[in-house]
Amino acid sequence: MNLQFTDRISLFNTIAAAVATGLVFFAVYSVVYLTAYNHLDSDISREADEVQNTVKGTGDSLFITYLPEWEEREHQQFETNPIFLQVADKSGEMVFQSANLHSGLMEVDTLLTQRKFFNSAIGSQSIRIGQFPIHNEEKKITGYLSIGVSRQESVSVLKNLRTTLLVAFPLLLIVLYLATSLAVSQAIAPVERLIREVGGINDANIQRRLDLPKHKDEIYQLAATINELLRRIESGINREKRFTADASHELRSPLAAIRGTLEVLIRKPRDTGQYEEKIGQVIGEVDRMHQILDQLLQLARIESGNVAVSREPIDLKSFLEAIRENLQEPLEEKNMHLHLDIPAGTAISTDGTFLDLILANLLGNAVKYGRTGGNITCRWDMAEAVLTVSDDGPGIPEEHLPRLFDRFYRVDESRASGGAGAGLGLSIVKRLCDLLGIPIEVHSKPDKGTEFLLHF
Ligand code: ADP
Repeated sequence: MNLQFTDRISLFNTIAAAVATGLVFFAVYSVVYLTAYNHLDSDISREADEVQNTVKGTGDSLFITYLPEWEEREHQQFETNPIFLQVADKSGEMVFQSANLHSGLMEVDTLLTQRKFFNSAIGSQSIRIGQFPIHNEEKKITGYLSIGVSRQESVSVLKNLRTTLLVAFPLLLIVLYLATSLAVSQAIAPVERLIREVGGINDANIQRRLDLPKHKDEIYQLAATINELLRRIESGINREKRFTADASHELRSPLAAIRGTLEVLIRKPRDTGQYEEKIGQVIGEVDRMHQILDQLLQLARIESGNVAVSREPIDLKSFLEAIRENLQEPLEEKNMHLHLDIPAGTAISTDGTFLDLILANLLGNAVKYGRTGGNITCRWDMAEAVLTVSDDGPGIPEEHLPRLFDRFYRVDESRASGGAGAGLGLSIVKRLCDLLGIPIEVHSKPDKGTEFLLHF
């Protein structure tokens, strides 16, 4: 069944209410029924107490010892609430009946061994009968005493009650269904408003946010969660836009350089040396494009937050020795020395892949921007758990330091040896440090050198 949410809730609620109300009505009816009949049964028992000792069984015979009791007015006259008396032998044959029993006999259960109360009728009159076995001196049943009272009043009370409950039951359910439908539609009105608002948000107005309700209820949480989702989608879209814009902007100049070089090359025939030189320049530009794309992709991946960070124990000294090994060629080219002032056995716990990227970038910069024949030092401060990467290069003027970790921020393009970078390396370092929870600081003095501090 394809029901609307409101109808579904109303229907479930009504079914539950129907079951609960049905049970309550049943309980009420049963209590009234039992009370009414218990009342009649105790009247019959009281009468039986008075009459029973006047009927005796001897052998197979029955005697009524005190007949005046039987001839009392109440047993002879037709009153509004008459009491009927009847004595039958053990085969159910009538021995005595009260005068008011002229219109018929009370039914007798000849299999009875204990007292029993049951509903019956004499003619059109509904009666309640109490049947009591009469025992002889050998405790054997010689007959039965039946006492009947009218249950007309109980029948009509129960009938009225039944009619009232049967009429009230569907009416109650209809009212309940309508009330629940109204309450549910009121309750989901804010959800429908949210659906309409969210439906109006698209790529063009992704910066729009849902209005938060005044009360901090589930609807508030839903709207806040959707807003958070929208924020993430917006930052994803922005990242994508930025990547496209950055990539096309940054790749434009190497592409123009490649085109210019190739155009010059085909203008006239050249000798092998010239070809080698120009093709070497083109390869350099292609490498630069490759590096820029690589770094942009790394940044996009880190910024998306979609990277898994692991923690592993790292032996800092051997870790840095491996990086130094990779930097051997550029170090030798610039006749530079990389000193590792790291006590043996220094262990840290962080993500090895990301730490490798951070240190490779910082040390790569120290080589690239450091002075020829200079020194680079990695020092571990055990007490503070700080790793310092320092060089004795030209340093960075103070006014550049606040923006040093910005994307594409470069200090002075003429300073780098081995080809200009794109100004992305330190922004990658900063984002990775944020990701690993390693605060990074930079101190620099022109002509003295630069140092980066990583606080583990
Ligand atoms: P790039 O790819 O240009 O090297 P980075 O983000 O790694 O980009 O560095 C940003 C700028 O910071 C560089 O252009 C450079 O001028 C300056 N810089 C970085 N490290 C050093 C250093 N050790 N010594 C001097 N200047 C540096």
